[in-house]
Amino acid sequence: MKLTRLQIALLLCLIFSNAWGQNYQNLVSGLSTVWGGGYPSTLFPYNSSAVPIVSGNINTASYPSVFCLASVYGSGRAVALAHEGVFSNSEITQFNNVAFALNIFDWLDQPNTNQVAIASGHGEWLNFGNATTLKSQLQVNGYAVANISGTITAAALVGKGVLMIGNGWGTYSEAEKNAIFTYVQNGGGLLMLGLGWSWVAYNSGGLSAYPMNQIGQQFGFYWTDTGISDPTNQYNGQPLFTGFYPNTASLYTVAGACATLNNITGANAANLPTVLQTNTALRTDFINANLFMKETVKSLPANNPLRQEVFSCLETLINTYPALFRKGIAYNPTNQNNFIWIRERMHRTYADALSLTPALKTQIASTLGLTGQYKHIWTNFSVLLADNSSLDANQKDYLMLLFSAVQPELHNLRLMSFADEMGSPPVASYGAIPSFLVGNEGSVNSFSNTIGTYPENQFPPDVPPGISDVFCSAAPHELNHIVDAFFIEGNTALKNRKTQLIAQAGTDNLNYLRSMIPSGFFTENPQEFIASIANQYFIDTKKTLDLALIRFNNGRSEPLNQFLYFANLYANGLNHTRFYNTNATCVFSFTQVPVGRDANNRLNSLCYNNVNYQFTLNATGNVTAYTTNTCSACTTTPVITGNSQLCNNQISTYTTPLQPNTAYQWIVTEGIILSGQGTNTITVQWYDSAGGTVQVILLN
Ligand SMILES: [Zn+2]
Repeated sequence: MKLTRLQIALLLCLIFSNAWGQNYQNLVSGLSTVWGGGYPSTLFPYNSSAVPIVSGNINTASYPSVFCLASVYGSGRAVALAHEGVFSNSEITQFNNVAFALNIFDWLDQPNTNQVAIASGHGEWLNFGNATTLKSQLQVNGYAVANISGTITAAALVGKGVLMIGNGWGTYSEAEKNAIFTYVQNGGGLLMLGLGWSWVAYNSGGLSAYPMNQIGQQFGFYWTDTGISDPTNQYNGQPLFTGFYPNTASLYTVAGACATLNNITGANAANLPTVLQTNTALRTDFINANLFMKETVKSLPANNPLRQEVFSCLETLINTYPALFRKGIAYNPTNQNNFIWIRERMHRTYADALSLTPALKTQIASTLGLTGQYKHIWTNFSVLLADNSSLDANQKDYLMLLFSAVQPELHNLRLMSFADEMGSPPVASYGAIPSFLVGNEGSVNSFSNTIGTYPENQFPPDVPPGISDVFCSAAPHELNHIVDAFFIEGNTALKNRKTQLIAQAGTDNLNYLRSMIPSGFFTENPQEFIASIANQYFIDTKKTLDLALIRFNNGRSEPLNQFLYFANLYANGLNHTRFYNTNATCVFSFTQVPVGRDANNRLNSLCYNNVNYQFTLNATGNVTAYTTNTCSACTTTPVITGNSQLCNNQISTYTTPLQPNTAYQWIVTEGIILSGQGTNTITVQWYDSAGGTVQVILLN
């Protein structure tokens, strides 16, 4: 036993000496300001061995604005910089850049060889040929500088203390990468300069295909495409960096951020919402730690172990202080607004951290304390409601139906916030943060008025009023912003047709379905075009069609083109679309409406309530004429049989008649489908609640 303890003590001692003996402070010795030498984008620690050395200050955007990382790898060392311009000829002589360069080469050259090699054979932007000022500065300080103009091999690195790679865009072979890894492992020094946004802008494959990232990941370095700018600390419009190790290390690592969250919470567990409201310094630290966790999840690939660390950290914190962090308590939006936003931020980061599986979603729901419709909406649609636990049952029931009624493949909504319930955005020492809740996928904010208190006519006077409550006109509007940004923008045909429709309609407001909006609005704000049609389409699709036909009869064809675009969007390639109806108290339903298509697969007919609408389309896809005919029973209303009088937690079976060539999408509220989704019979276990619904959609 004694021997084992001794071994453990020695091991710990070695680990600590490894961390403390690297003299990272030598990298920043004598520095007060480093100039980026261009427009850099943030470097991100890719694993826990990377130590942030240089960063922006408190108001540098975007957080965390790390400009330099360093790490120890085997017996060797590595440094990464976020723009190769920092050491280019005209920039290296500015501010402390020369001193910074000499610090780096001295720190990397542990064996004191005074031998530097510069790689030039892979399209390196800063290379042996053009880094003339850097070379002369190194030579004046006793270094010999050699060129590696071709392949990087072990032989080429023999005797070299530092290898510099200045933003290479060419391919480094596996053999070259291995030569570099072995060289550093055995005590060599590696300096890498890169620029994430520029690679992404001019090359395919994204950040993971960036040659600098492919090498840098081994050493804990990851160049992102998030730009760094600073409104106050800048020269020639480019950021000046004044944040240095060791301050950077506690701010810009997952371990550091996690310690900050735990320390502040542990010391103030009894009154954290009040402390975070009144103590600006603590609040800023707490906000920054949460922002770093968010950025870790947003910046790093899904399988990166640091994302697991974020997940584990937040899960432990929430489970340790459930009364503070779980869903359930509504805090005061006037004097606890900072904590309200921070709690919702933590929930989002935790839910975004790992790739979702059904088991993980259950675990997340349990940690966050999601119950009732919060749990159903999360479990069924992967959507969190950031509402300070304040939406009422009617509001949540409506949202559940809305999310059920929109095909999940049309959007990637992950968070719907209700800022009216949350008070003002959180305020750090450097200012308020309005986009605090935005994560790595779809976020929208909607209105939270009590249903029935804010009726609004969604239609122009051409048709009778279509009155709906703002709660249930705003939510589909916002959801369709995500449909637009995610689905339409990702589909070339839909995207081009949308652009064409806005161009055809021009500035005249009467050429739009939402003609109550002033002329010129949609050409100025094209991002509102789709969301705005949803205001009418989701309140009363039939009335929207009537409006389009009335305008067409009066010589304006654009509203009808817009209607057919939306009907086609919600058909999503199938032979039926969805007609929605919402009344003034947000009672919401939809029916399936059969549609027909022409030889070019363009939607040119639909049949609603025993009327068949047939549209003549020209080569562009615009309507030139239409006819209506009576048809028989063309609206598909599937019949469902099953027990409708149930006790809580009872299991029951529901069936709809078998149809040829049909799949079945079942939607259940207040219960869970145990089996049969996709078939014509399902088994449902009902929740412990007042009542639920069963709907089925037939997919031909
Ligand atoms: Zn909008």
